[in-house]
Amino acid sequence: MSRQPTFDDRMETVRAVTELRAALSPARREGLTIGLVPTMGALHEGHLSLIGRAREQCDVVVVTLFVNPAQFNERSDLERYPRRQQRDAELAAAAGADLLFAPSAEEVYPPGFATSVEVLGLTDRLEGAVRGAEHFRGVTTVVTKLLGMAQPDVAYFGQKDAQQVVIIRRLITDLNLPVRVEVCPTVREPDGLAMSSRNALLSPAARARALALPAALAAARARAAAGERSADALLEAAHEAFSAAGVEPDYVALVDPVTLEPCPALVRESLLAVAARIGEVRLIDNAVLQPCEQSSPARAFEREAIA
Ligand code: AMP
Repeated sequence: MSRQPTFDDRMETVRAVTELRAALSPARREGLTIGLVPTMGALHEGHLSLIGRAREQCDVVVVTLFVNPAQFNERSDLERYPRRQQRDAELAAAAGADLLFAPSAEEVYPPGFATSVEVLGLTDRLEGAVRGAEHFRGVTTVVTKLLGMAQPDVAYFGQKDAQQVVIIRRLITDLNLPVRVEVCPTVREPDGLAMSSRNALLSPAARARALALPAALAAARARAAAGERSADALLEAAHEAFSAAGVEPDYVALVDPVTLEPCPALVRESLLAVAARIGEVRLIDNAVLQPCEQSSPARAFEREAIA
């Protein structure tokens, strides 16, 4: 490459690992901090919040754009996945990215590629139970590769994919990878639907039904805020919201936010995770629930009266 990146200049797009390394090496030599935001593109405000956080915290912001075939368990999902590289480049630049790494599948998985990274246990649950082991194996392999390619100081992920965050934290700890993970809150549409690249694939009718996911989370959250601690009751509240919208969820689960083991009761911070297929499009969402510190005297009286 002829141009030395200065990182106060316009964003540069690179497609080869050697170019990425060459572009980052002056920054690394100077001891600047490098932030990495892995994405599959079709960028929305959720992705841009990650880029914005990286911009605030790091000297150099690298955004990766790679629709990773290895993590798609359904061919039709991979083929349909929205691809908007030109628009993504403009949005990433406007959000403060310095470098866009947009490799081809051959660059990431060259002939002879034979290694995969697998996190056991955590990947069997929730999304892993529905999508199969290859989904998270694809995610953990590509994330390990992207971390190796860019060697960032900090990597940014969204709470929207809560199980992915848990698995990536485990991977980074277990493999002693020298990177800090930053998790950014889920960005939502004004009506509560979590932003997702797949939302673009929803028909207007399916878009309306997709509100079942945030409605289920809100229903369980409201029960928890009213003092309910039984997982069964909280899950029932979420199921009722799905039924009211005519949506059959893939799962509704209250789990420990570190081990992803089911929680029988809300006695400490827990993760309520939901997934549903809305027409052809699979959506996931989650909420972190806290036990209500003290149930009100009125509710205690109510419970005694019912008992
Ligand atoms: P994806 O392009 O879907 O692989 O997502 C790339 C990153 O953006 C992941 O770390 C996601 O968790 C994160 N992300 C996706 N949607 C949102 C959202 N609505 N709010 C915050 N982060 C998100």
